Amino acid sequence: MSLVVQKYGGSSVADAEGIKRVAKRIVEAKRNGHQVVAVVSAMGDTTDELIDLAEQVSPIPAGRELDMLLTAGERISMALLAMAIKNLGHEAQSFTGSQAGVITDSVHNKARIIDVTPGRLRASLEEGNIAIVAGFQGVSQDSKDITTLGRGGSDTTAVALAAALDADVCEIYTDVDGVFTADPRVVKKAKKIDWISFEDMLELAASGSKVLLHRCVEYARRYNIPIHVRSSFSGLPGTWVSNEPQGDQNVEHAIISGVAHDVSEAKVTVVGVPDKPGEAAHIFRAVAEAEINIDMIVQNVSAASTGLTDISFTLPKAEGKKATAALEKIKATVGYDSLRYDDQIAKISLVGAGMKTNPGVTAQFFEALSDAGVNIELISTSEIRISVVTRADDVNEAVRAVHTSFGLDSDSDEAVVYGGTGR
Ligand code: ADP
Ligand code: ASP
Ligand code: MG
Repeated sequence: MSLVVQKYGGSSVADAEGIKRVAKRIVEAKRNGHQVVAVVSAMGDTTDELIDLAEQVSPIPAGRELDMLLTAGERISMALLAMAIKNLGHEAQSFTGSQAGVITDSVHNKARIIDVTPGRLRASLEEGNIAIVAGFQGVSQDSKDITTLGRGGSDTTAVALAAALDADVCEIYTDVDGVFTADPRVVKKAKKIDWISFEDMLELAASGSKVLLHRCVEYARRYNIPIHVRSSFSGLPGTWVSNEPQGDQNVEHAIISGVAHDVSEAKVTVVGVPDKPGEAAHIFRAVAEAEINIDMIVQNVSAASTGLTDISFTLPKAEGKKATAALEKIKATVGYDSLRYDDQIAKISLVGAGMKTNPGVTAQFFEALSDAGVNIELISTSEIRISVVTRADDVNEAVRAVHTSFGLDSDSDEAVVYGGTGR
């Protein structure tokens, strides 16, 4: 008997109807002879609503308590889903992350999975049950406190369970038909990709294509778990993410895999930093000690007359307050002039392994942005990615212009978005 792990995102279980529809899909997989573990996210925008609520009682909520609060969202959907499955005449049991054996480190709000001990899930499956697991949560090995895996973390739960249970496949069900060459909410002419390598998917995910979480793809690559991303609203085959294409998976030998955008970041500029050894180290040590992950960094050449320089970096908006608080504390010791915080930025990235061997991609990318009248504020590159920061207002137009310029527009149907609010 084969074992499948399926993950259903928030938009797939947004309301009672959605939960019943998902229950039917799960039962169908069971009827087809599979053992099924279903990982489920919080209903609709519940997680965002809980965060808003927390911020109304405390501007920087305590990490431990925020995790306690947020994990409640997934508990609601897992219990309702198990009830809906039982109502269809099948046995199901729901499990919290901790009960499912998802063991993490103790970094609240973005814990890493360090071990998975799915003994209770195995026993439940052996008894003939469908196992429903709350995504996005675990328990810290050291503190025994409840943790969450960072926004979108249910994807990681699913892949980690698939690896630990030696599942045949991990299916990620969402509100679009797979991974597209750009976000179908922004580019109606985006094309569905039949197969994409872990490598390209990692860059897309890291650049903001939230259809799959970056850490989930990292995990899948490490344990070589093929992922099938597909819609829970249609019966269409989706996108396979794996090392190598299998059988009839269609591989387009395109230079560019896709365009990603991200409006979840902000830019911090430390103005007037004395240009001497150790200052950048001092600044980024303070940010690191506040457990903040940063993305792009730019330092300007100092003006000769002043001996001062500006350092800018980008980081998740959600960590903006923590970062500026940490930097305020070292203002006197570093001796910088002021801090600027800008959350009206967007990052646009072009991704594709073919970039390595095709000169001119960068020039064409910049030309497309310039033709669309979009100004570039920061630039960063990797071997298979170019990213720029622009004004947030320009993001949709910029993504569409780049998508068209690289010949990615489909000439057939418009990409369908079945649900979700895009939040
Ligand atoms: P879920 O609630 O199922 O986890 P998410 O909202 O996290 O869903 O991810 C699905 C969304 O990802 C889609 O609705 C789409 O707007 C967005 N998205 C961004 N980039 C892409 C892409 N390249 N392909 C498909 N979807 C994308
Ligand atoms: N509910 C969590 C979130 O909104 C986890 C997830 O959906 O994957 O981030
Ligand atoms: Mg998601």
